[in-house]
Amino acid sequence: MLDLLTNSSADTYRSLISHTSSRVADRFASTTQPFSGASRSELQSLVDGVALDGPGVGSTSAIREIDELFLEHAVWFHHPAYAAHLNCPVALPAVAAETVLAAVNTSVDTYDQSAVGTLMERRLIAWAADRAGFAGGSGVFTSGGTQSNLHALLLAREAALTATDLARPRALARLVVFATASSHFSVGKSALLLGLADDAVVEVADDGAGRMDAAALAVAMREAAASGRLPMAVVATAGTTDRGVIDPVAEIADVCDAHAVWLHVDAAYGGGLLVSPRRRHLLDGVERARSVTVDFHKTFFQPVSSSAILVREPRDLAAGAWHADYLNPLENDEPNQVDVSLQTTRRFDALKLWVTLRALGADRIGELFDTVIDLAATVGDEIAADPELELVGRTQLSTVLFRVRPAGAGDATQDALVAGVRRVLFESGRALVAKTVIEGRPCLKLTLLNPATTLDDVRRILAMVKDAATTLAGIAPEFDEALAAAEVPA
Ligand SMILES: *Cc1c(COP(=O)(O)O)cnc(C)c1O
Repeated sequence: MLDLLTNSSADTYRSLISHTSSRVADRFASTTQPFSGASRSELQSLVDGVALDGPGVGSTSAIREIDELFLEHAVWFHHPAYAAHLNCPVALPAVAAETVLAAVNTSVDTYDQSAVGTLMERRLIAWAADRAGFAGGSGVFTSGGTQSNLHALLLAREAALTATDLARPRALARLVVFATASSHFSVGKSALLLGLADDAVVEVADDGAGRMDAAALAVAMREAAASGRLPMAVVATAGTTDRGVIDPVAEIADVCDAHAVWLHVDAAYGGGLLVSPRRRHLLDGVERARSVTVDFHKTFFQPVSSSAILVREPRDLAAGAWHADYLNPLENDEPNQVDVSLQTTRRFDALKLWVTLRALGADRIGELFDTVIDLAATVGDEIAADPELELVGRTQLSTVLFRVRPAGAGDATQDALVAGVRRVLFESGRALVAKTVIEGRPCLKLTLLNPATTLDDVRRILAMVKDAATTLAGIAPEFDEALAAAEVPA
């Protein structure tokens, strides 16, 4: 039986993995741009052209086929001209570990399915919690920051419901979560999933640069309480997805302590600072949170998925526990991770971080993150000094927001160019940048998470951005007037 990985197919496994990894290695060695630039219709017909109902073609042919289909047209996060979203090139030891965990296929739900795997995950969580300043803290690996945030807010909801005398349905309708407009969209989505009221997420004013204003938080909290609402949690963001700025966590913690409200720190992006040799202080105050989200698949250079929720008080996790006779009955005293996770069957993603820490050491991972933060600062300076570009705010991490302004272009042209430039670059496949909206105006965004990317690499991306903008503005010389006309109601 050579179709499944068993004792009798060990040699087939060895040759298939080596064949497959050598194809992947060839792609890494030869890929010259982050994306092929193939159009969506072209990709759709390639995908539709594969006969999924046909007879099997064998592993070697199937791998060749995905080499030509998927690897040929993949979006490559390791390429220096990839600067769009919060995706990183992955640590080599983690990729090796991925091979191991895929083959063994451990599920870290009950102890009897994972044994040492459970103990390794728990050790790693204790390590990460300790880095966050939660001595004796706990947590669990999750599929990503979205799940970590949902999980944290579930625990916060249960804590708030326990603390009130109101009956559950009445209390639920009154709960409020405080966050800024820059907080991640998973906060609002979690509020919906957790059955909170439509207006449960209260937007706290920021300091004009995207950071929560702690004084405004105190006011918002008093107002909510005065109108009969129940403050459930404050979500501080340590590294906003767009601006890469960090809410003043210690000041926010003071407000939370004064009102006995759960502080959750969403450090999905800034979590890498936990191991930064030069910037750990940017997370000062995080130890006063009740829960923290860290995405290892962003700033610890781990393959997707790898994230965790960390909690200061291990007992807080109990609010998420359910018991089933066949899995984790109450009388079972084994350390069952399913008791502290929203998932049941769950990948042993912790193995990747474990191997990375052992292979590189924590400082090295932090240095890699520091490198991209340094690069973003330099790129920010260059953009600020370039008359054809306009820097939008300053990051504390590794995003760079900007607009392009070809000679003579007004605001409306600059705004309209954002989507056009992004599309032109994407369609060429030569460079990938993102776009977002800051204070109502669109802007381009670079997310720098590749420590191998040089300043010259980024200069090349910026040159492509300017070329695309000049071309687009040239195609429509009356861009401004056309847009102004379009805004006049008919
Ligand atoms: C990326 C991000 C998330 C979501 O994490 P996923 O791993 O994509 O689910 C949450 N919060 C912030 C601040 C993020 O940057």
